[in-house]
Amino acid sequence: MNADLVIKNGMVMTLDNKFTLYDQADVAITGNKIVDVVPQTRYRAKKTLNAAGKLVMPGLINAHTHSAMVMMRGLADDMPLDRWWNKFIFPIEKKLLNPEFVAIGAALAAVEMIKSGTTCFSDMYFFQQAAAEVCKKIGIRALLAEGIIDVATPDAGSVAEASRITDELYQRWQGDDLIRIAVGPHAPYSCGAECLRQSQALADKHDLPLHIHIAETAGEVAQFQQQHGQTPVEYLDKLGFLSGRVMAVHCVHLTPGDIEILRRADVKIVHCQESNMKLASGYAPVMEMQAAGLTVALGTDGAASNNNLDMFDEMDSVAKFHKLIRKDPTIMEARQVVKMATGNAARVIGREQELGSLEAGKLADLILIDLAAPNLTPLYNPYSHLVYSAGGSEVDTVIINGKLIMENRKILTADEQAIMARANRLAHKIKAEVSHG
Ligand SMILES: [Zn+2]
Repeated sequence: MNADLVIKNGMVMTLDNKFTLYDQADVAITGNKIVDVVPQTRYRAKKTLNAAGKLVMPGLINAHTHSAMVMMRGLADDMPLDRWWNKFIFPIEKKLLNPEFVAIGAALAAVEMIKSGTTCFSDMYFFQQAAAEVCKKIGIRALLAEGIIDVATPDAGSVAEASRITDELYQRWQGDDLIRIAVGPHAPYSCGAECLRQSQALADKHDLPLHIHIAETAGEVAQFQQQHGQTPVEYLDKLGFLSGRVMAVHCVHLTPGDIEILRRADVKIVHCQESNMKLASGYAPVMEMQAAGLTVALGTDGAASNNNLDMFDEMDSVAKFHKLIRKDPTIMEARQVVKMATGNAARVIGREQELGSLEAGKLADLILIDLAAPNLTPLYNPYSHLVYSAGGSEVDTVIINGKLIMENRKILTADEQAIMARANRLAHKIKAEVSHG
């Protein structure tokens, strides 16, 4: 049989529902889809990749980030959230953010994510048309949401304008094979009831995910209790905002009643462990949410609060932190954590039929990990290595939508050096702005 591309002789981790793992198998790809995963070679292909000594697995999905914020990486650490935001992030966004800034940041983020095995990410930021063009050019899959807030944003004077930008993004990218659009009301504390209703109506109209931060800090919950006598989740529930299309990011400070509301509404959860730790926001009741039947994916959040976009780091932190907090080493088993970064994430972004596992008929988003590394030797359990020992730098080859994007750690679709040089030039302007401010 013929295929466009066959990846031969690798150890293949399918992450299907049975966690099928082949010591040696071939993955055949035609067009942008996987056509077969078979233990014995029977395909003739236009191109063959030898994956002997490598692990072949689905690409990782970063379910929440603010990609262009890589430009603020390491600029302001080790300080309270309000100072971090008001003294550094907000003034820079206000003065310097424009389409060029976002294009430079999104390109740097895309390259960083590809080099650490992320093939698809869900993003909320501004000037998202610039990010979309960059992602399309580099070839990474993205679900992009224009941030919608009650007050003026760097690119929209009002909620109506931000909604119009979202609508235009949707029209522009409708039917694209890599870029999809979500609606991004920032959070219930930064979006009033009318803003939330408009966002929801737009998402319903075009059948899009609704990407929102919920209950990130104790302060946010206290403010809602004071103003509304309700938790943020209760408030959103009363508004009729919650549904299966809602991607709720953080969900750190929840009551058991909140978890029940989220479950009933089939809300999808994104857990950003490293960001929550670094900003000392608290820890999300992930075990409780999972026990209630909620789907939980992982996200890095923006690089200004992480400080990288490496999903291997994120998996490692999640697995260890929850064990520590619960004083129970049996929870957050490695295999389940890998699933959170793949299949669960695919479900959270509304694409479980197409992404998240290596199965015939699914989109060909996959990564190869070089197992010939001291920290991956010996190999008893590949799930364990992915979570507890591997890092993004062991990702050797990346295929997205059937296309070879990185081979032997060389990005084929972008000039990595030029992207870093542009980012460094922009960083000079950011530094000057911070020292004036
Ligand atoms: Zn965020």
